[in-house]
Parts: sequence; C-alpha cells; structure tokens
Amino acid sequence: MHGNRIPNIVLGIDLGGTQIKMGLVDHAGDIHSFRSVPTESAKGSRHLLDKLQQACVEMDREARERGFLPVGVGIGTAGFVDTDGRVAYATDNLPGWTGTKLRAEVESATGLPAAVLNDVHALALGEGWRGAAASLKLRDFVCVTLGTGIGGCLIADGNVVRGQDGYAGGFGHQIVMQEGGIPCSCGLSGCWETYASVNALKRLIAERSGTRFASEFPAAAAGGTLEESAPAADPRRLFDAARSGDRQALAIVDEYADRVSVGFVNLIHMLNPRDFVIGGAISAQGGFLLDRINAEIKRRIMPVYGSGGIRLHAAELGDKAGVVGAAYALLRQN
Ligand SMILES: [Zn+2]
Repeated sequence: MHGNRIPNIVLGIDLGGTQIKMGLVDHAGDIHSFRSVPTESAKGSRHLLDKLQQACVEMDREARERGFLPVGVGIGTAGFVDTDGRVAYATDNLPGWTGTKLRAEVESATGLPAAVLNDVHALALGEGWRGAAASLKLRDFVCVTLGTGIGGCLIADGNVVRGQDGYAGGFGHQIVMQEGGIPCSCGLSGCWETYASVNALKRLIAERSGTRFASEFPAAAAGGTLEESAPAADPRRLFDAARSGDRQALAIVDEYADRVSVGFVNLIHMLNPRDFVIGGAISAQGGFLLDRINAEIKRRIMPVYGSGGIRLHAAELGDKAGVVGAAYALLRQN
C-alpha cells in the first residue's frame, strides 16, 4: 500500500436457496461488512437477478463511503456453474436459475468484472484462504458440506479441481446403495446424501425415536405458519442429549456417523487424501461428531489407506466462508 492509494475491495456474494449472504472483502480476506437477505427464489430468476443487482449497488455505495474502491464481484451460487460463469443446472431450490448467464448479467449490471462459481467450491476456497485449511497451512484437502444435501470440492495445490466442465465435487451423489436405494433429488436412487445429509439425519431420528428429539413447532418458530408446523426431528436436540450421555441419542449419533463414513471411505479409496474440511450445518457439532465419523472410517477403510492418518477438521468461517471464497475467486481471476 503506498501513499493515499484507495484500498481495493471485492463484493462477495453467497447465493443459496433460502438466503443471499453478502460482504465487502479486502485483499487479505477480512470482511468489512456482512449481511444476508432472503433469496425469495419462488419469485423467479428475473427477480433474483434484479435483487443481486440491487445488492451490488448498495454494497458499492457502502464500500465507497467507507473509503474503498470496489474492483469486482465474486459470486458463489447453488447449482452447477460452467467455465463461462453460466448456471448450467440448478435444482428446484432456485426455479428458473438453470441457463442463467450469471457472470455476463452481473458484469453488465455493475460494470465490474465478476467471478462466478459453485457455492461449495467458494466455501472450500474461503476455508483455504482464511478458515480451517488456512490455519493448518493445507494446500491439498477435500471439502465436504453436510447440510440439506451434501456438497463437495477437491482442492489440489490451492486450486479447485473443476473437471472438464466445472462440475467436479458432486460427492453427495456417489451411489452407496444399488438395490432399493432412497430416491434422490438428482433423479437417481441410493445417493450418499439420501443417507448422510442433515435431512437424512432428521429422518433417521424420527425412525429411531419418533418425536422424542422433535421441536414442536419448527416452521412457526422460523417464521412460517402454524399449519405447516408439525413436530419434526431436531438434530440439535439429539446432539444435546447425546452430549449429556443419553444412550438412545448416542446410538442414533453413532448410526448416523456410520452412514456418513461410507462416503468418506469411498473418497479416501479414490483420492488418498489426508485432510478433510467439513462444512455445512453439522460442522457446528465439531469433534463430538467428527471423531465418531473418523472412528467409523478407520473401522472400514483398507488399512493401507489409514496408515498416514485421516484428519477431519470442522470448517471455521461458518456462514461467511462462501462470501470470502467468492471474493478470493475474483481476486485470483484478475
Ligand atoms: Zn443424487
């Protein structure tokens, strides 16, 4: 930094099915402003693009008021993003989003260069730049997000391994059950995420314990109507009970850890990694859960793959990882 030069800033955006998170990220990965707004995806892609443009205008103004010069926009979005920054496919979580030329739209709306990438790829870059993988100085790791679904990203020598079209990392859709597998949102059956996502955990809790670990009115508590509220399994209640030694809760946690371990074992046999960074809602359970998953992994893997040690690290940036990583992608692109 010399003299009176205005410091650069990137508008970082993490676009998910329910929330759009955004922040001003500087060249070192520090966040100077962070907030989120509802995605309102049901209103369609035109509305969503307008909303993104509005967010960029507001962030641009805020950045200048704070004495920064906006130099670009980084966006991590749910869905499959091709190498031109186009959303090649998005599920019904973002209706109409498939086919959106997101990078071109944002660049023409803001006049700034944009980087667009998959949201889990962004999360992994964020954790690599300023999160768990940065703390450990890892250049190579596998990122897995255990959330509504399961996402993934392979980082090699600090870079996202994108594959020929940009879609590498669909770890949640590895098939772990060939006969009578549970139908998956992707159209196949028996995918890992139908057994090991947070949604799968909720189903397991309900199957094993009925309403014992249920929240009474979850939708109402989250701002929904009473009508759509019914007692629903609440993983936090399960983990709280398990931590206090409840035997039934511990048994369910162990069964879940076992189901989760299967996908990791496949990844380990394919990639022979040492380090995993675990993101998504479940990463808040930290070592209590990750140690159990790791124990199941060790029980299953071919011993030769375990000799160097397998490490599971909880993500550290929480809901800010995608914003930080999207900004990093923009900076790396320029
Ligand atoms: Zn699937």
